[in-house]
Amino acid sequence: MNNHIPILVEMQKLDDVIAEKLVLTESLPKRLSGLKKDVEDADNQVSETKTRLEENRKDQKLKELEIKSNNDQITKYKNQLLAAQSNKEYKALNSEVAHLESQNSLIDDVILQLMEDESSIKAQLEEELKIQANAKAELKANEDSLNLEIKEVEKEIKKFRDQRNNLAKDLPRALVKRYAALIKNRNRKAVVFNNGNKCGGCGYVLRPQVMIELQKGDEIINCENCGRMLVFHE
Ligand SMILES: [Zn+2]
Repeated sequence: MNNHIPILVEMQKLDDVIAEKLVLTESLPKRLSGLKKDVEDADNQVSETKTRLEENRKDQKLKELEIKSNNDQITKYKNQLLAAQSNKEYKALNSEVAHLESQNSLIDDVILQLMEDESSIKAQLEEELKIQANAKAELKANEDSLNLEIKEVEKEIKKFRDQRNNLAKDLPRALVKRYAALIKNRNRKAVVFNNGNKCGGCGYVLRPQVMIELQKGDEIINCENCGRMLVFHE
């Protein structure tokens, strides 16, 4: 058997592990940033609702001031009523008072609505604070371990790469180059076994002559379709 073949098989085994680890280098940071995003979203939601609550309370104060100013005016008119000289003046003052009183009653309705809104905003805020606390707890519970896991995976990838590169030292440069190109361009599979009479990488049916040469194992056979290096498997 061509003595390069067992080395290539070992290298591919290491690259299979590296491929699994590479998936983690994407999924772990994604999980971490997802947890951070949950906290950020919760923070935004809480601050938005707090602003609405402040605005509601401001509006209530303004409406109360309006009522107060109307009441001051009503008191003024009522004092003037006591000193009214004519029936006409008396009627005019009375109608002003009635107008202000009906205005106040409308403002009261608005205040009531604002108070109802306030209590529903408060309930909403309470819910959002719970969600925010949960998101923060979730991040706190996982952040360190995820960061650790990410570092660990990177370390392992480096270790397996080093092992693979050490094996590669025993191969001709051109073969290593070819292997590296296949890893890069063929979904991290450079060396595959035959699957019956098919290429284990792409499923292409291998010609009988290719099968015979593959079985002999004297040289490295490439799949005529995907270019991967084939290794015989009973
Ligand atoms: Zn193939």
